[in-house]
Amino acid sequence: MSDRGLVVVLAGPSGVGKGAVHAGLRDRVPGLVSSVSATTRPPRPGEEDGVAYRFVDDAAFDRMVAADELLEWAAYTGHRYGTPRAPVAAAVAAGAVVLLEIEVQGALQVRASDPDALLVLLVPPTLAELERRLRSRGTETEEALARRLAVAETELGHADRFDAVVVNDDLGTAVAAVAARIAAARAA
Ligand code: 5GP
Repeated sequence: MSDRGLVVVLAGPSGVGKGAVHAGLRDRVPGLVSSVSATTRPPRPGEEDGVAYRFVDDAAFDRMVAADELLEWAAYTGHRYGTPRAPVAAAVAAGAVVLLEIEVQGALQVRASDPDALLVLLVPPTLAELERRLRSRGTETEEALARRLAVAETELGHADRFDAVVVNDDLGTAVAAVAARIAAARAA
Protein backbone atom coordinates (compact mmCIF):
# COMPACT_ATOMS: atom_id res chain seq x y z
CA MET A 1 0.00 0.00 0.00
CA SER A 2 1.40 3.40 -0.92
CA ASP A 3 1.15 6.55 1.18
CA ARG A 4 -0.67 8.44 -1.52
CA GLY A 5 -3.34 10.73 -0.13
CA LEU A 6 -6.90 9.95 -1.14
CA VAL A 7 -10.30 11.59 -0.83
CA VAL A 8 -12.99 9.04 0.01
CA VAL A 9 -16.60 10.11 -0.24
CA LEU A 10 -19.08 8.06 1.76
CA ALA A 11 -22.50 9.07 0.51
CA GLY A 12 -25.96 7.63 0.88
CA PRO A 13 -29.40 8.42 2.18
CA SER A 14 -30.02 9.69 5.67
CA GLY A 15 -30.42 6.75 8.05
CA VAL A 16 -28.49 4.25 5.92
CA GLY A 17 -25.70 4.02 8.51
CA LYS A 18 -22.94 6.24 7.08
CA GLY A 19 -21.89 7.22 10.60
CA ALA A 20 -21.60 3.60 11.76
CA VAL A 21 -19.58 2.60 8.69
CA HIS A 22 -17.40 5.69 9.13
CA ALA A 23 -16.74 4.70 12.76
CA GLY A 24 -15.93 1.13 11.70
CA LEU A 25 -13.43 2.38 9.13
CA ARG A 26 -11.41 4.08 11.88
CA ASP A 27 -10.15 0.65 13.00
CA ARG A 28 -9.44 -0.49 9.45
CA VAL A 29 -7.77 2.52 7.87
CA PRO A 30 -4.74 3.78 9.81
CA GLY A 31 -4.56 7.56 10.10
CA LEU A 32 -8.02 8.11 8.63
CA VAL A 33 -8.87 11.82 8.69
CA SER A 34 -12.55 12.78 9.02
CA SER A 35 -13.67 15.96 7.31
CA VAL A 36 -15.75 18.23 9.56
CA SER A 37 -18.54 19.84 7.55
CA ALA A 38 -20.04 23.26 8.07
CA THR A 39 -23.82 23.34 8.32
CA THR A 40 -26.62 25.81 8.87
CA ARG A 41 -28.69 23.05 10.50
CA PRO A 42 -29.20 23.66 14.23
CA PRO A 43 -27.36 21.21 16.51
CA ARG A 44 -29.29 18.18 17.76
CA PRO A 45 -29.21 17.60 21.50
CA GLY A 46 -25.72 16.44 22.43
CA GLU A 47 -24.05 17.58 19.19
CA GLU A 48 -20.97 19.61 20.04
CA ASP A 49 -19.72 22.36 17.73
CA GLY A 50 -16.57 21.35 15.84
CA VAL A 51 -16.93 17.59 16.32
CA ALA A 52 -19.29 16.19 13.67
CA TYR A 53 -20.09 19.68 12.37
CA ARG A 54 -19.18 23.31 12.60
CA PHE A 55 -22.55 24.96 13.18
CA VAL A 56 -22.73 28.29 11.36
CA ASP A 57 -25.42 30.84 10.53
CA ASP A 58 -26.57 31.68 7.00
CA ALA A 59 -24.32 34.74 6.72
CA ALA A 60 -21.22 32.74 7.65
CA PHE A 61 -22.13 30.02 5.16
CA ASP A 62 -22.65 32.70 2.46
CA ARG A 63 -19.18 34.06 3.19
CA MET A 64 -17.60 30.61 2.87
CA VAL A 65 -19.31 30.08 -0.50
CA ALA A 66 -18.32 33.55 -1.75
CA ALA A 67 -14.69 33.03 -0.72
CA ASP A 68 -14.65 29.63 -2.48
CA GLU A 69 -13.70 27.97 0.79
CA LEU A 70 -15.92 24.93 0.24
CA LEU A 71 -14.85 21.92 -1.79
CA GLU A 72 -18.53 21.14 -2.29
CA TRP A 73 -21.80 22.14 -0.73
CA ALA A 74 -25.48 21.32 -1.06
CA ALA A 75 -28.88 22.26 0.25
CA TYR A 76 -30.58 19.36 1.97
CA THR A 77 -34.15 19.49 3.38
CA GLY A 78 -33.95 23.22 4.08
CA HIS A 79 -30.40 23.59 5.39
CA ARG A 80 -26.98 23.90 3.78
CA TYR A 81 -24.03 21.59 4.34
CA GLY A 82 -20.49 21.97 2.96
CA THR A 83 -16.96 20.60 3.16
CA PRO A 84 -14.22 23.12 4.04
CA ARG A 85 -11.59 22.80 1.30
CA ALA A 86 -8.35 23.67 3.11
CA PRO A 87 -8.28 20.86 5.73
CA VAL A 88 -8.99 18.25 3.04
CA ALA A 89 -6.22 19.57 0.76
CA ALA A 90 -3.72 19.66 3.65
CA ALA A 91 -4.48 16.11 4.76
CA VAL A 92 -4.31 14.70 1.23
CA ALA A 93 -1.00 16.50 0.64
CA ALA A 94 0.30 14.81 3.81
CA GLY A 95 -0.64 11.40 2.37
CA ALA A 96 -3.75 10.77 4.46
CA VAL A 97 -7.04 9.14 3.55
CA VAL A 98 -9.69 11.80 4.12
CA LEU A 99 -13.27 10.69 4.55
CA LEU A 100 -16.20 12.93 3.62
CA GLU A 101 -19.55 11.71 4.95
CA ILE A 102 -21.94 13.67 2.75
CA GLU A 103 -25.11 13.47 0.64
CA VAL A 104 -25.21 12.61 -3.05
CA GLN A 105 -25.25 16.05 -4.75
CA GLY A 106 -22.07 16.96 -2.88
CA ALA A 107 -20.48 13.62 -3.76
CA LEU A 108 -20.98 14.32 -7.45
CA GLN A 109 -19.39 17.77 -7.07
CA VAL A 110 -16.32 16.13 -5.54
CA ARG A 111 -16.13 13.80 -8.54
CA ALA A 112 -16.16 16.82 -10.86
CA SER A 113 -13.27 18.54 -9.10
CA ASP A 114 -11.21 15.47 -8.09
CA PRO A 115 -11.33 12.64 -10.61
CA ASP A 116 -9.10 10.55 -8.31
CA ALA A 117 -11.57 10.62 -5.42
CA LEU A 118 -13.15 7.29 -4.47
CA LEU A 119 -16.94 7.62 -4.41
CA VAL A 120 -18.82 5.04 -2.36
CA LEU A 121 -22.60 4.94 -2.18
CA LEU A 122 -23.97 3.17 0.87
CA VAL A 123 -27.45 1.78 0.26
CA PRO A 124 -30.03 0.13 2.53
CA PRO A 125 -31.22 -3.43 1.87
CA THR A 126 -34.69 -1.97 1.15
CA LEU A 127 -36.45 1.39 1.44
CA ALA A 128 -38.68 -0.08 4.15
CA GLU A 129 -35.59 -0.91 6.20
CA LEU A 130 -34.27 2.64 5.66
CA GLU A 131 -37.53 4.04 7.02
CA ARG A 132 -37.31 1.70 10.01
CA ARG A 133 -33.75 2.85 10.78
CA LEU A 134 -34.63 6.55 10.45
CA ARG A 135 -37.62 6.11 12.77
CA SER A 136 -35.65 4.17 15.37
CA ARG A 137 -33.00 6.93 15.40
CA GLY A 138 -35.74 9.22 16.61
CA THR A 139 -34.00 12.45 15.60
CA GLU A 140 -36.56 13.73 13.08
CA THR A 141 -40.11 14.99 13.17
CA GLU A 142 -42.63 13.08 11.06
CA GLU A 143 -42.43 15.81 8.39
CA ALA A 144 -38.62 15.85 8.31
CA LEU A 145 -38.62 12.07 8.11
CA ALA A 146 -40.91 12.12 5.08
CA ARG A 147 -38.65 14.67 3.35
CA ARG A 148 -35.56 12.58 4.06
CA LEU A 149 -37.22 9.47 2.64
CA ALA A 150 -38.26 11.34 -0.50
CA VAL A 151 -34.67 12.58 -1.02
CA ALA A 152 -33.41 9.03 -0.41
CA GLU A 153 -35.24 7.70 -3.45
CA THR A 154 -33.61 10.36 -5.67
CA GLU A 155 -30.21 9.66 -4.13
CA LEU A 156 -30.44 5.93 -4.82
CA GLY A 157 -31.17 6.75 -8.46
CA HIS A 158 -27.60 8.08 -8.86
CA ALA A 159 -25.91 4.77 -8.04
CA ASP A 160 -24.35 4.49 -11.51
CA ARG A 161 -22.24 7.61 -10.87
CA PHE A 162 -20.35 5.95 -8.00
CA ASP A 163 -17.20 3.80 -8.01
CA ALA A 164 -18.76 1.35 -5.58
CA VAL A 165 -22.23 0.64 -4.24
CA VAL A 166 -22.18 -1.11 -0.88
CA VAL A 167 -25.29 -2.54 0.78
CA ASN A 168 -25.37 -1.83 4.49
CA ASP A 169 -27.16 -4.95 5.70
CA ASP A 170 -24.54 -6.43 8.00
CA LEU A 171 -22.38 -3.57 9.33
CA GLY A 172 -19.13 -5.56 9.54
CA THR A 173 -19.50 -6.76 5.96
CA ALA A 174 -20.18 -3.21 4.73
CA VAL A 175 -17.15 -1.81 6.59
CA ALA A 176 -14.92 -4.56 5.17
CA ALA A 177 -16.19 -3.86 1.64
CA VAL A 178 -15.47 -0.13 1.89
CA ALA A 179 -12.06 -0.77 3.49
CA ALA A 180 -11.16 -3.11 0.62
CA ARG A 181 -12.08 -0.46 -1.95
CA ILE A 182 -9.96 2.12 -0.12
CA ALA A 183 -6.97 -0.25 -0.01
CA ALA A 184 -7.35 -0.97 -3.73
CA ALA A 185 -7.60 2.73 -4.61
CA ARG A 186 -4.49 3.52 -2.57
CA ALA A 187 -2.53 0.73 -4.20
CA ALA A 188 -3.53 1.76 -7.73
P1 5GP B 1 -27.82 15.44 9.02
O1 5GP B 1 -28.75 16.60 9.13
O2 5GP B 1 -28.56 14.12 9.16
O3 5GP B 1 -26.62 15.52 9.90
O4 5GP B 1 -27.25 15.44 7.52
C1 5GP B 1 -28.11 15.47 6.42
C2 5GP B 1 -27.37 15.01 5.19
O5 5GP B 1 -26.35 15.94 4.84
C3 5GP B 1 -26.67 13.66 5.40
O6 5GP B 1 -26.87 12.86 4.23
C4 5GP B 1 -25.24 14.07 5.56
O7 5GP B 1 -24.33 13.04 5.19
C5 5GP B 1 -25.16 15.23 4.60
N1 5GP B 1 -23.98 16.09 4.83
C6 5GP B 1 -23.29 16.30 5.97
N2 5GP B 1 -22.25 17.12 5.76
C7 5GP B 1 -22.27 17.42 4.44
C8 5GP B 1 -21.43 18.23 3.61
O8 5GP B 1 -20.44 18.83 4.01
N3 5GP B 1 -21.78 18.31 2.31
C9 5GP B 1 -22.85 17.66 1.79
N4 5GP B 1 -23.07 17.80 0.49
N5 5GP B 1 -23.66 16.90 2.54
C10 5GP B 1 -23.38 16.78 3.85
